[in-house]
Amino acid sequence: MSDHIVLTSHARRDKPAEPIHWGAPTAAERGPVIASLTDPAQRNVIGTHAGAYAIYRALAVAAGSLQRAHRPDLTDTAPAEPIGPHAQWGDPDKIVSLDPWGHLVSTVFADRIAAGFDIRPTIAITRAHINMPELVAAIAAGRLAPDGDILYPNGDVRVSKAAIDPVWYLPGIARRFNIKESILRRSLFEQTGGMFPELVTRPDLKVFLPPIGGMTLYFFGDISKLGQPDTKVACRVHDECNGSDVFGSDICTCRPYLAHGIEVCIEMAQQGGVGLVVYNRKEGRALGEVTKFLVYNARKRQVGGDRAETYFARTECVAGVQDMRFQELMPDVFHWLGIRKIHRWASMSNMKHGALTAQGIEVVEQVPIPEALIPADARVEIDAKVAAGYFTSYTPPDANELALAKGRGLNE
Ligand SMILES: [Zn+2]
Repeated sequence: MSDHIVLTSHARRDKPAEPIHWGAPTAAERGPVIASLTDPAQRNVIGTHAGAYAIYRALAVAAGSLQRAHRPDLTDTAPAEPIGPHAQWGDPDKIVSLDPWGHLVSTVFADRIAAGFDIRPTIAITRAHINMPELVAAIAAGRLAPDGDILYPNGDVRVSKAAIDPVWYLPGIARRFNIKESILRRSLFEQTGGMFPELVTRPDLKVFLPPIGGMTLYFFGDISKLGQPDTKVACRVHDECNGSDVFGSDICTCRPYLAHGIEVCIEMAQQGGVGLVVYNRKEGRALGEVTKFLVYNARKRQVGGDRAETYFARTECVAGVQDMRFQELMPDVFHWLGIRKIHRWASMSNMKHGALTAQGIEVVEQVPIPEALIPADARVEIDAKVAAGYFTSYTPPDANELALAKGRGLNE
């Protein structure tokens, strides 16, 4: 380990010892993702592990509570469930925002790790029991029936879950958005305040570990059936909304929709299929919670009150855009799981639906949230979304309806 500060603002002349061939069919041909911070010569990617948590790691090293050269001991950390490999892993354009081999590094790259390369998992898979009051209520209402295997009488649900850190293959991301890789690299460099000079100095490094949140997957039923053509799949893709998901805030339908999605997933697992909830860390349409709360104030203080006709405009005034979630990358996780068809899709979002079908994933049945589960204050959101083209089984609101103030005032 060197005590010199290694600047990354100038190109290195030496090539990484382990090149990455993104989309190669086997792990050995693809090569490991190496983001070593102690041996710059090993590095074959831009950025660092653990997303935004890298900053806490920096603090821990600076504060003297973490050894700079610490490497994880991966004993007994192997996936609790098998996933893949699937044919989709061998297509450089199908998966561009995660490492399909990310959960398997301690086995598929065991020889390289033994040889001294600092190779770390970007995906971890474990098992858990979950319980939500909505599921207990669904049992009491007779919508769900405990089976003692997937769902227990007290509302406990047996699940497997996976945590995934983002790994971006920059040429593939650029192609997905139909932009030049150089434009993408420059924008990433500038919009992170020049945090990663290699984005512009190292065009030979094609893989970037971005400092953003990843996703969590919750599986219901027999995960090993995924990727088999006759397996039925139910799914909810949910973008994080801490206020509603965790604290039960009633201005949106997020938690009710999440609970409904889990119900749909449990039903599918009980029928022999697999249920899947994809939980993306994209708070406030990926605008962040500060922007989101500013928008809430603007909606509730505007002349005429909180109403659907100005729902998207109020967001755009503050953020400059309506939405930055970019569902274009969302289908990657389905390719990773080998899923080509989703039989029950618990979502009303036309953007998510369009992104899936653009990636060749078939959606058989779209399941809207039952109207009885929509909180009164969330009527503004749901009316605005339905008027904007979201899928629903109910009649879209007309202009008079959209002009009605339905949300609470700020002081109510
Ligand atoms: Zn929400």
